[in-house]
Amino acid sequence: MSVIGVDVGGTKIAAGRLGPGHALQDSRVVATPPDAAEVVATVADLVRTLADSTPDPVTAVGVGIPATIDSATGIVGASNHTGMDGLHAQDVLQEAVPVPVVVDNDGNLAALAEHRLGAARGHRDAVLLTLGTGIGGGLIVGGEVFRGGHGQGAELGHVVVKGDGPPCQGGCPNHGCVETMCSGTSLARDLNAFAAANPGTPLAALHAEGKLDSRAGLDLARAGDPDAIAIFAEAGRWLGVAVASLCNIFDPDVVVIGGGVSSAGDLLLAPARDEYQRRALAPTRRAPLVVAELGPDAGMVGAGILAAESAP
Ligand SMILES: [Zn+2]
Repeated sequence: MSVIGVDVGGTKIAAGRLGPGHALQDSRVVATPPDAAEVVATVADLVRTLADSTPDPVTAVGVGIPATIDSATGIVGASNHTGMDGLHAQDVLQEAVPVPVVVDNDGNLAALAEHRLGAARGHRDAVLLTLGTGIGGGLIVGGEVFRGGHGQGAELGHVVVKGDGPPCQGGCPNHGCVETMCSGTSLARDLNAFAAANPGTPLAALHAEGKLDSRAGLDLARAGDPDAIAIFAEAGRWLGVAVASLCNIFDPDVVVIGGGVSSAGDLLLAPARDEYQRRALAPTRRAPLVVAELGPDAGMVGAGILAAESAP
């Protein structure tokens, strides 16, 4: 028996078939289509393709969406980075797929995957932040995913670290969420603002070519550019502010940092650790701040694990 996990992202949809021990047996990645109906059809196609490529029966499908999802209705609430707001995700996906479907927030699923197989394995309580276009989050409390009273919980990217900070993205009405200070989007903003104000720097050269995003900035920082290093360090310190509050609240055993921006490693995490250690209450400074282990597969694998654990 096997299960299929699907991770619907803003730019691509990844689907994988998991066998015994949650081992990934086969996977596919396609571009995310522009509207919700096409997304549902694409998910159904991917499930069919992966199910047809094995004689092993597929018993359940898990789908991760970058949005809050009402646990009672399966309806998408706030979706900052896709056009899925108001979609009856659970119903439409179940209609499109011939085996039981479970739907969850992508950050919750990444946290589940890191807890069962990755950097939070063996721990009871864990906090996960995924740094990408925005910042997703997941909480493991007592070994299980915490979703709050309506299933919309653990939007850790919207923890405020700077009350009068920049406006947040999409449907978030807040200012100074950690997402506005340490996401791929905020790094691109800060790198380009610096470049515009400092002609003659390597960052300004990339900016002039229209090529300065967080990835290009990271390449420069890795090559030793002091301006790029300073901008990643500043973002890391804001991450540390958020981690200090999260540790004071949840007293986790480990804090895991995933998502594409986490590939910055200690350029981001060393200043984050320093700031966290300076700010957290002494008893809650014990949790190590570590990089996620499952990389870009975390959401997809977590979706498969949820499907396996939810199957009757
Ligand atoms: Zn926000």
